[in-house]
Amino acid sequence: MDEISTNFNGKRYYTFNQFLRERFGCKVYKLPVDAGFTCPNRDGKVGYGGCTYCYNPSFSPPTLRGKISIYDQIQLGKKRKKGKFLVYFQPYTNTYAEIKTLKKLYDEALQDKNALGLCIGTRPDCVPDEVLSLLESYTEKYHIWVEYGLQSAHDRTLRLINRGHNFAQFEDAVYRTAGRNIFICVHIILGLPGETREDMLETVRILSHLPINGVKIHHLQVIENTKMAEDYREGKFNTLSFDEYLSLVVDVIELLPQNAVIQRLLGDVLDESILVSPRWNLKKHEILSCIDKELVRKDSYQGARYHEQTTDKPC
Ligand code: SF4
Repeated sequence: MDEISTNFNGKRYYTFNQFLRERFGCKVYKLPVDAGFTCPNRDGKVGYGGCTYCYNPSFSPPTLRGKISIYDQIQLGKKRKKGKFLVYFQPYTNTYAEIKTLKKLYDEALQDKNALGLCIGTRPDCVPDEVLSLLESYTEKYHIWVEYGLQSAHDRTLRLINRGHNFAQFEDAVYRTAGRNIFICVHIILGLPGETREDMLETVRILSHLPINGVKIHHLQVIENTKMAEDYREGKFNTLSFDEYLSLVVDVIELLPQNAVIQRLLGDVLDESILVSPRWNLKKHEILSCIDKELVRKDSYQGARYHEQTTDKPC
């Protein structure tokens, strides 16, 4: 295990902090901004109502949405944290606008001398080649990530949660992004309705063999005022217990390749009062510590099961 702990700087998985330190030689943080975008799964272009779990204010920091410029949001963010940062276009679909609008917003974000690059959260059906070319044009001088919401590789789940895109569209976006010097991060959710443990692990096995650079793992959190909260209260599904999540997330870590950066290991809500379920009564650092201990107990690490074959095609 000595070799593994050296690879991961004392941890048993590849953290985003480690990745950024290796790349830039200093601590780098993500500074979130809200550019006032909407989402094609809400405004009718793809669908109405959005994904059944989605309530953006629950996971985005409060901002003066639409009332304050990107540059000014960055100046406010800099008062809370010092140092270099990546500007994170977080809520909604941050490639969903005309190219000239996107360029203006991204250029504005990179005006600050401490901005090392961009992280762009978006949907896989919202990245035409001209958008990818725009992002690629920044890569000579800046560090660029695109974060694709996928959540599951299974089309039946994507339909159930009303994602408005399928797995093939995601795969197409990944292959069109790869090779452009843009880093690719994929969001997945553990515990979606109708999925078995094996379904979730299959999603990870499939991702592990695609040209991606990182993942964000969320556990399903049911938030007030969503379709999913209605379904949960009607008893249509259960959320994960902490023990179920812990065992699952460790399996996920084992299945990921060692060079995939793990940007997140659990979901987060800014306001606990709107969280319907699960309520584990554990703080984030306590959960991360349980994951570390479980990896030590199993004497395991990221990539330990990377060579496991996918069992089936996603459906
Ligand atoms: S794609 Fe994102 S912003 Fe749009 S409805 Fe789904 S989770 Fe919400």
